[in-house]
Amino acid sequence: MSIPATQTAAVFHEHGGPENVKFEEIAVPEPGQGEVLVNIKYTGVCHTDLHALQGDWPLPAKLPLVGGHEGAGIVVKLGPGVTQLKLGDRVGVKWLNSSCGNCEYCMASQESICPNAKFSGYLVDGSFQHYCVANAAHATKIPESVSLEVAAPIMCAGITVYRALKEAGVHPGEWVCIPGAGGGLGHLAVQYARAMSMRVVAIDTGVEKEELLKSLGAEVFLDFKKVPDMVEAVKEATNGGAHGTLVLSTSPKSYEQAAGWARPGSTMVTVSMPAGAKLGADIFWLTVKMLKVCGSHVGNRLDSCEAVEYVARGQVKPVYKVWPFSTLPDVYHAMHENKIAGRIVLDLSK
Ligand code: NAD
Ligand code: ZN
Repeated sequence: MSIPATQTAAVFHEHGGPENVKFEEIAVPEPGQGEVLVNIKYTGVCHTDLHALQGDWPLPAKLPLVGGHEGAGIVVKLGPGVTQLKLGDRVGVKWLNSSCGNCEYCMASQESICPNAKFSGYLVDGSFQHYCVANAAHATKIPESVSLEVAAPIMCAGITVYRALKEAGVHPGEWVCIPGAGGGLGHLAVQYARAMSMRVVAIDTGVEKEELLKSLGAEVFLDFKKVPDMVEAVKEATNGGAHGTLVLSTSPKSYEQAAGWARPGSTMVTVSMPAGAKLGADIFWLTVKMLKVCGSHVGNRLDSCEAVEYVARGQVKPVYKVWPFSTLPDVYHAMHENKIAGRIVLDLSK
């Protein structure tokens, strides 16, 4: 297969809105030691990409930046020292592009907190380009039975919520509350939770998301634009509070509410990262209810393989629409307005 010298990439040079995204001709990167070059066919668009564009977070991003970290494609070139992948392999390019492999966290399979970790579409150029570099040890193999467009949303959204549900420690038959359930992460969280026999209270807005989430197995849907007292509504639905909460909502408000509906002794997992959000919990209730607050950042390599296996077995089915690559700015507009039920996957060939 011939690899071109240049390619079209979605780049931004300064933080700002969707109008800052430019489609530019840039060099095809060269895979370095332990890296592969992946010909990206499909990529999901995660809300993290929008946070990166807007400059929402305290961690500085590379500029100019090619975003994207839910890539799925084919290995077309091997860098020196790559033994675990071969040309033609189908792989996913994830947020965790690489980690050092040698620090105390990597040694304990906690790669996502490696201080030397590189994040695709943030610290290194990501999947909003036709050819993207990935570390061979971290690229996730995609089984033949899973199409690349289906695999794309798993590479961030799926892995992240799968790991976060493990952190939540909710047992079969117990309630997990998921604010932000109708989005890219949320609609997958509902499915992984159901596959783990948890009962789901889903919080989001609008009839489309309500119908989707109920069809995916959420027992209770609460509309944040309609329910006047969300804390009481969750407590009532769960007969005393959720046994675990996964905060996936992009509104800081959810972080003010979650400790209120948490069942005593339960865990709140922080996953979403709205700009400037602070934990709004009352320390009195955190203490006397003996709540645990747990951050959860994507997942390790084994979590990644396991998350894909749920899809291969048919227990989890990403719900997505395929849009042309050129529509990335439109995706950001729709995402900003909370209009996307499930995920948008970009087709790089269009
Ligand atoms: P998304 O835009 O697809 O979904 C967010 C959902 O939150 C939307 O459906 C929206 O309607 C809903 N929402 C907004 N306000 C709400 C409220 N007050 N109550 C309940 N729901 C509300 O976003 P996404 O791609 O699913 O990402 C969600 C968040 O997770 C982002 O902040 C993203 O950066 C973060 N994220 C974290 C990790 C991690 O490793 N921790 C990984 C991926 C994404
Ligand atoms: Zn993501």
